[in-house]
Parts: sequence; structure tokens; C-alpha cells
Amino acid sequence: MNEKPEYLIKNGKRLDGRKPEELREIKMRTGVVSNADGSAMVSFGKTKVIAAVYGPREVHPRHLLLPDRALLRAWYDMFSFSVEDRKRPGPGRREIEISKVLTEALRSVVFLEKFPRTAIDIFIAVVQADASTRVTGLNAAALALADAGIPMKDLVTAVSFGKVYDEKGKEHMVVDVFKPEDNWGLADVAYAVTPNFGEILLLQMDGNLTREELFTGKRMADEAVRKIYRQQVKALKDKYLEGLE
Ligand code: ADP
Repeated sequence: MNEKPEYLIKNGKRLDGRKPEELREIKMRTGVVSNADGSAMVSFGKTKVIAAVYGPREVHPRHLLLPDRALLRAWYDMFSFSVEDRKRPGPGRREIEISKVLTEALRSVVFLEKFPRTAIDIFIAVVQADASTRVTGLNAAALALADAGIPMKDLVTAVSFGKVYDEKGKEHMVVDVFKPEDNWGLADVAYAVTPNFGEILLLQMDGNLTREELFTGKRMADEAVRKIYRQQVKALKDKYLEGLE
């Protein structure tokens, strides 16, 4: 979509037919990369991400070793074919920044002190991008860590929210931003929490929101977090139930 649309929401329906608080179809599966210690695939509509965890394992390079805890590192990257116009391969500034914020969010939930002198590496690969890849990646990374059996105080559940305009120019808050809303919307926020404690692990905003709008968006996102969390738990259980069949 290259031209600014007349509206992003009309009569309470977004361009893909969703209601403001409605999520795209979400799919989650764990154990998708057999060589990894833990892995998961998560898709939110057309946005699809695979996360693979390796570790706890030896730290390389050695000088990064931490004597009292594990070194947790997350690498976010997008495949060249994940976007419409081929993306230049390899991490650029955007990927480095996203890797940093995802690493920080994940470090706050893992009991790192249980694995001193080791590394826990998490690779987050965007296979298909239709906006909100960092939050989708975070959901996948948390699932992959749990799938690897790494102890955490809680999962991480993430969703985006944003502000769009209708045909009269009136503004509305929406949850789970997809590409046209990311391109043309008035604001978008990446949001992640510990689903059982409500501790905020990531809050990144593009655009402008009033305090009221931010709180409305957060309320809608918290509702979405409950649904996403239920699906994460189901994905973790499903792998074991499948083995029992
Ligand atoms: P997020 O994916 O977390 O929403 P951004 O706001 O940075 O992060 O990106 C929004 C969307 O823009 C991505 O999901 C993707 O669809 C698209 N995008 C990002 N980088 C590129 C790129 N280099 N080429 C084409 N599209 C891109």
C-alpha cells in the first residue's frame, strides 16, 4: 500500500475487517527446531516469527563470561524475503536496536543466577513481516525459553497497539497493528508484560499519544495479553500432549 488511505477504520471496522480490540489470527507451536534446546513459531496474521534457544552453554567470546549469572543474548533478524521489497540481509541499526530491547525484556524474567558462567542465546528470525514483528518475536522467544526448560519467573506476553483515523478524521485506539496501520497510523506502541504480574518489560512508541490514549491503549492491550497468554500456555502443553497420543 503506497498511497495514504482515506481511513484506517470505518463504522468500527478496520481495513482487514477487525474490530478495534480484535487480534489477528494467532498460531503458536513449540519444538519447531529440533537442533535447538527450545524453540517456537508464532504468527499474528501474516507476521510469522521463529525463535530458537541454545543454552545454557559455554560463553564465546570468553571475556563476556559473567561469574555470577548467565549471559542472555537475543538476536533479532528479518529474512530478506520477509518483506515485500527484498530487505538487505544482515542486521542494520533497526535490528541491533530491537535485539537490545528484546534482550533486556527477556533478561528480566529468566533466573540468570541459576546458570553462572554460561550463555543463553536466543535467535529470533522474522520469516514474514506484516508489522508488530518485535512483539511477535518476544512471544516466540518466551515460549522457546520455556520449551528449553529454562526457569523463569513468568512468561513474557507482548502485543502492539496504535492510533488510527476514521473517514471523518476522528481518532481511535486499536490493538495488534498490521502493516497499513503501522505505515499510516498516527501512533503505534510495542508493549510487553509479565502476564501474571503485569510488570512492563517493553514500551516503545512511534508517533504521539495523549496520556488518556496511552491508558486506553494499555487497557485494550492488557485484555489482549490475557488471550495471548492462554494461547502460549496451550502451545507449551500441546507439545507434551502430542507425545502422549
Ligand atoms: P515492528 O515490526 O516491531 O512493528 P517496525 O515498526 O520497525 O517494527 O517495523 C514495522 C514493519 O515495517 C515491519 O513489521 C515490516 O513489515 C516493515 N519493515 C521493517 N523493516 C523493513 C525493511 N527493511 N524493508 C521493508 N519493510 C520493513
